[in-house]
Amino acid sequence: MLAKANIEFDVGVKSFATGLLPELIAALRQCRAGDLVAVISSDASVGTDLETWCRFTRNTLVDTTVEADRTRWLIRCGEAPANADADRPIGSRLWLYTNFDCNLHCDYCCVRSSPKTPRRELGLLRVKRIAIEAAELGVNEIFVTGGEPFLLPDIDDILAACTAAAPTMVLTNGMLLTERRLQALRSLPSGRLTLQISLDSPTPERHDLHRGKGTWMRAWNGVMRARAEGLRVRLAATVASDREADEFRHFLDAHRISEENRVIRRIALRGLATEGVALARADLVPEITITAQGVYWHPVGAEDADLLVTTDIFPLAESFAAVRRLFERESEHRRRLASIFNCA
Ligand code: SF4
Repeated sequence: MLAKANIEFDVGVKSFATGLLPELIAALRQCRAGDLVAVISSDASVGTDLETWCRFTRNTLVDTTVEADRTRWLIRCGEAPANADADRPIGSRLWLYTNFDCNLHCDYCCVRSSPKTPRRELGLLRVKRIAIEAAELGVNEIFVTGGEPFLLPDIDDILAACTAAAPTMVLTNGMLLTERRLQALRSLPSGRLTLQISLDSPTPERHDLHRGKGTWMRAWNGVMRARAEGLRVRLAATVASDREADEFRHFLDAHRISEENRVIRRIALRGLATEGVALARADLVPEITITAQGVYWHPVGAEDADLLVTTDIFPLAESFAAVRRLFERESEHRRRLASIFNCA
């Protein structure tokens, strides 16, 4: 499904040399920061000029799709919101997508997971090797995600390998947190594992609308059971607006959930989402993310070609270096633009 744009226009056969630019500028003038403009053309070569123009004007080309010989470029008006985590050293945090299948089918899932999605498993052997090499490279936080990691029969062994290397957060929708499962998690080294459970709203309506009927109550029961077992739980909400974020914050305050045990983020315009914050690689500080397909720039697009860095996971030192090199190139580009625009 195509991402929704605020303004959509077909430029016919126009190029930058023959009238596209005034139309583009007129469209962007009607936009607020963060709005999206879709440009459609049967001439794919327009894309190169569009990308260059976007970089120089600090707008962002966030997506390109081709359908029936027509290309649709999605441009975000202005730069992305500042990243609060921009100072974290690259490679200190590592994400592992253990699998891509899920027992839920959320309508904004950034990696298109569902019960029908092929598993695409990272596998215990690879996780063990990653954990050993990650510890040597100074990784100090591991995030295990999917899909739903608790669908995997060997998830306990995977988490044991990860927690041996670094404090580990496992992201879950909370549907599979049975007593037996939670007891198994308790046998992991104390204080090394946190469960991050998704809960999108203070009451079931909005959460269930995105994630399926009855899922809010099951997630909340999972939160309660996990806390009763003495496990650390962090609640993570994915919201569509500042108002929704505020509502959830009040709910967390009422339940005395501390700041370090909560995360509230906006829906990203990736995967299945048709609305949300549009993000390009240049907007994201890398958080190295490993899937069965390779090493990605950031978990928010862990199956998107524009965020794939390398298909070679090992040795980890080399794939980490590849991410850092690419980040250096992005930074160099920004520095060059800064000097080009330096007017005095
Ligand atoms: S958002 Fe999470 S719970 Fe929902 S489908 Fe995607 S992986 Fe599954």
